[in-house]
Amino acid sequence: MADLSKYTKELSELFSTSRNILLISHINPDGDAIGSQLALYHYLTEKGRSVTMLTPNYLQEFLKWMTGSDQINVFIKDRKLGRKLISAADLIVFLDFNHSNRLGEAEASVLASKAKKLLIDHHLDPENFADLNISDTQCCSTSELVCQLVTCLNGGLPFRCRPYSEALYVGIITDTGNFEHGNYTPDTMRIVADLLESGLEKDKILNLIYNNFSSDRMRLQGFALNTRMVVMPESRTAYIYLSREDLKQYNHVKGDTEGFVNLPLSIKGIDFTAMFIEKDGFIKLSFRSKGKFPSNEFASNYFSGGGHRNASGGEFKGTLEESIRYFLDALKENTWRFQADE
Ligand code: 5GP
Ligand code: MN
Repeated sequence: MADLSKYTKELSELFSTSRNILLISHINPDGDAIGSQLALYHYLTEKGRSVTMLTPNYLQEFLKWMTGSDQINVFIKDRKLGRKLISAADLIVFLDFNHSNRLGEAEASVLASKAKKLLIDHHLDPENFADLNISDTQCCSTSELVCQLVTCLNGGLPFRCRPYSEALYVGIITDTGNFEHGNYTPDTMRIVADLLESGLEKDKILNLIYNNFSSDRMRLQGFALNTRMVVMPESRTAYIYLSREDLKQYNHVKGDTEGFVNLPLSIKGIDFTAMFIEKDGFIKLSFRSKGKFPSNEFASNYFSGGGHRNASGGEFKGTLEESIRYFLDALKENTWRFQADE
């Protein structure tokens, strides 16, 4: 574990001298973005700090049960309020991202703000847009990092508060694929063990996160695998694509396609997957890989994106067909990856 105690004094001072602390997580916030944001929110409000929260766009349905999620302001829902919160803040904390374009429409206002800026994140290659970067790529999730920092601030003792523990657990299980992705460490397990010992209702949370889908979503998954998955054994790659029309047919709500990109990785011989989702005027891409192939570099080289080595994403301006053609051409330029694992 990285030595985070060196940040304790500075963080403690930052939090206690700031009058308005604004916590921001990234666009299309996932379980770890919201988990780390809410965990820090619960800790700081419990300590009497004045804290507000913002996300660039809407939360997914499966996260809306989390305590405090109704306190998260959504920038694109009320831009005026979003800008007001940004200008009122004297400390802005960025959680679970390290490229300012992940602020979406809030980016310009945030970058123009005179507030002190603190980044807490676990992604590779941070950009330099904060005054203090606490970046630990060894952490499985930003929630794990928040837990370690809060423990330091709390005199080395775990902070105990139900919504805080639940938020941490959500961040950890969603970023590790419920401990499937292998990015967790003994430190993660020590945190989880402590959460369980403190009485965390893990079965309730697992049900809320993983067994809370609509039947439409289940059918969309079946449709995607059956008719929209292309498997290319020769390039050890599989991809799934879904058009707006496909999504409409299955009454898609935000978050329904979460996790689909992982599914073809369980096919023997497949170690790179992509998912193409048609949005309004652009294509959103997700990538997953097994082993050494840096899917985040692929995402940043070809799709203005980034993320982790084995889980990343990006975007493409154009049609679904064009994006797939472009992807297949990009794959051809990356045959070197077949040597990467040898
Ligand atoms: P997902 O496929 O679940 O949307 O995202 C997987 C990972 O890739 C996450 O860690 C997320 O932060 C990162 N990611 C997804 N889309 C983008 C993107 O457009 N830009 C960057 N920089 N990272 C992304
Ligand atoms: Mn994360």
